[in-house]
Amino acid sequence: MKIGFIGLGLMGGPMAANLLKAGYALKVFDLKKENAAPLLAAGARWDESPAREVDVVCTSLPGPKEVEAVAAAILRDAGPGTAWLELSTNSPDVVRRLHARCRDKGIEMLDAPVSGGPGGAKSGRLAVWVGGERAAYDRCLPVLQAIGDQPAYVGAAGAGTVAKLVHNASSFMVQAALAESFTLGVKAGVDPLALFRAIRQGATGRARTFDRLAEKFLPGSYDPAGFALKLAVKDVALALELGKTLGVPMRACEHALAELEEGVRRGWAERDCRVAMTLQEERAGVSVRVPPGKLKEIT
Ligand code: NAD
Repeated sequence: MKIGFIGLGLMGGPMAANLLKAGYALKVFDLKKENAAPLLAAGARWDESPAREVDVVCTSLPGPKEVEAVAAAILRDAGPGTAWLELSTNSPDVVRRLHARCRDKGIEMLDAPVSGGPGGAKSGRLAVWVGGERAAYDRCLPVLQAIGDQPAYVGAAGAGTVAKLVHNASSFMVQAALAESFTLGVKAGVDPLALFRAIRQGATGRARTFDRLAEKFLPGSYDPAGFALKLAVKDVALALELGKTLGVPMRACEHALAELEEGVRRGWAERDCRVAMTLQEERAGVSVRVPPGKLKEIT
């Protein structure tokens, strides 16, 4: 099978190298030819039209603007039956628009953004979240498995990209929250290493970030309380008070407290604290619910 690869940066370079290692014939292109040097030394071929006469073309580009620019060449060069694995983090609108244009030309486009960083791209420990036709995903699975150890079909065109944006929005909200709580802890006089070692063993510390969604939020069950809302308000208010005393600004914590207090005003003080998450469902006009039986199948 022949593969064309466009965009050989921090992620694309090592992903392309893994395709070579898996035995695929590889044609590569990047605006910076020097980025291709290790791949050319390992047996890849330089080609300024890498979507021509290949079974699969992969793109790993900075963002929507660059993908749109490269899409013109792919739509021009790729023949019917070619699959396009778009591995960049892109906009769902751009992905869906390009998917429709590809379909008209017989090109099977899959949005397949990845997660795991340059280290994961090199070791192959990468999640690959895929949107598009299920049959195209099944056909491309061996290539996806050469790129990452965790490929997953998420849904129709754009669904992989939405999953990636949900993941990264969560990552950077957690990052901002951890910056707040760690500056609080260290300014309050606790040794950072001792703090890190201790809190990793707490309820949130021991959980994988998204696993806790399965306890209350996804099944939508907040009674009886595992941890009452009124107790959560007390804890978060105490942390904010400490921050004020020490001069540690805590914007995310203020937001968290406002959410919890709104829940109390609704009369939910005795319910599980995670009931406050339903306020966001109300505002967003969407219900986020998974039947408990289905959750058990995957957790
Ligand atoms: P990068 O800047 O290192 O690589 C992008 C490459 O694309 C560069 O080599 C650049 O020369 C090339 N390029 C740009 N425009 C081009 C064009 N028109 N034609 C051909 N080549 C072109 O970026 P990266 O860190 O490898 O990220 C690539 C994508 O993967 C991004 O969408 C990013 O959001 C996503 N991503 C990055 C990481 C990470 O940790 N770096 C993790 C997951 C996903």
